[in-house]
This record gives sequence, structure tokens and C-alpha cells, in this order.
Amino acid sequence: MESSVITQVQKEDVQVSPKTAGQVSRSALKQPRSCNIFKALFCCLKAQDDPKPPPTPPPSHQALLEAQENGMVVKQSEYSLLPEIEAQDQGKLCVVIDLDETLVHSSFKPISNADFIVPVEIEGTTHQVYVMKRPYVDEFLQRMGELFECVLFTASLAKYADPVTDLLDHCGVFRTRLFRESCVFHQGCYVKDLSRLGRDLNKTLILDNSPASYIFHPNNAVPVVSWFDDMDDAELLNLLPVFEELSQAEDVYTQLDLLRGH
Ligand SMILES: [Mg+2]
Repeated sequence: MESSVITQVQKEDVQVSPKTAGQVSRSALKQPRSCNIFKALFCCLKAQDDPKPPPTPPPSHQALLEAQENGMVVKQSEYSLLPEIEAQDQGKLCVVIDLDETLVHSSFKPISNADFIVPVEIEGTTHQVYVMKRPYVDEFLQRMGELFECVLFTASLAKYADPVTDLLDHCGVFRTRLFRESCVFHQGCYVKDLSRLGRDLNKTLILDNSPASYIFHPNNAVPVVSWFDDMDDAELLNLLPVFEELSQAEDVYTQLDLLRGH
């Protein structure tokens, strides 16, 4: 598939992490030429236009948090992002699941074999977003919903991610959906702070293609390779046995260590 603007933007995620920067081609580190609209909509973007770094919150902040975004101060009070656990999920671990490049790939450029086309209004103009589902995503979500309390957590805007999730999650696997405003803006990137969920951290996992998203809680993470258009990809299918094992864990840190071979 074409190297879309969104694809170029997404590669900026990697630029955020010095540890992974060396694995990326030089072209991936170039500035995108024109992506203001995309920056506004899709997730986890480095703040290219902000000459000053935003304030750095502690990894696990409990008190009032001030996050700077586009010159505006956004105040986030102390509260749990998730409601009380539902009766059907009692005793299950919580899994936070990312959307873009984990479950789907979206583009403003027409994709002939798109699974969904979602209209999104940006600055008074309606744009069509073409969405492709990652192979095996239906099977993956169905089983994950049986094993875990599943939460969608995306750094994208709700006006894009909510309708996409409506189409993707036809079985109602996601108990809660969290969008960009639930992220912490940290060093130019939107971070998913698991300590704000209101769940025990040793019973919480995060599945995300971007390490920057879980930089506060790397030991809760199940990494997944970014997906764009490879229809032979079987990552989600291959992850199911891993999550089957993890679902039985008393403590995710211990189980993840075992799975990592530590
Ligand atoms: Mg992602």
C-alpha cells in the first residue's frame, strides 16, 4: 500500500523512544510534509510545533495533573478512568487494548478494500476515513472478551475512534472506551497511565504497538508489531495462546517474566 501521510506520522511514535530509534530507517525519521489534519485526529504524535517541552508528571501521579497541549492547560482531577467492575467480569484481569496499528489501520487516502469508511468532521469539513481491519481481529476480540475485562484505550480522538469501534466491536467486547483526553501528555506524547484506571496494576495488561504509550508501565505490556496492510499478518492469532496463559495469572508481572524467559 502507499506510504500514506498517516503512516509517516505514525512513524514519529518511534522517534519518541530513543531505544527504538536505531531500528528505524532514516526516511522514517524525516518530518512529515503536510499532516496537520492527521495530527489533529490520530494518536500519539510528537509535538513538532511546540518549542518547549511540556511539564513532566511523575510516572504514577495521584493528585491534580496539569497537562499542556497546544498552549492550553488541561486539568485532570484525581479519579478512576474506569467504572466499577461489572459482575460478569469479576475475577478477570483487565486488558487495555490500543486501536490504531494494533487492531486496525486507517487512512484518509482511499483504500479499495477498506472494511469500513467512516465520515469524520474536521474544522467544518467532512472527511472519509478508510479503515482496514487487521487479520484475525474478530476472532481475537471475541476470545479476549471471554477471558478479560477489555478496555479500548486510544490516543486518537473520539470523533474518529468511537465510530470505528462501533463497527469493529459488534459483540460489545469493550466495556469502556477511553480516548485522547484520558491520556497523559508527557514529553510530547500521549501516554496511557494505567495507574489511573482504578484497577490493581498487578492484574492489568496493556496491548499496544507503541512503546511510548506504556512508558509509565512497561512491565504490564504485551508488545505487538505495528500493522498497516500485511494481509498475511497473524500476530493477533499468535497472541491468543499468550493471553490464554496470562488470563490465569495471579500476578501479571510474574507471568510476563515467565513468558519473557526471565
Ligand atoms: Mg497504536
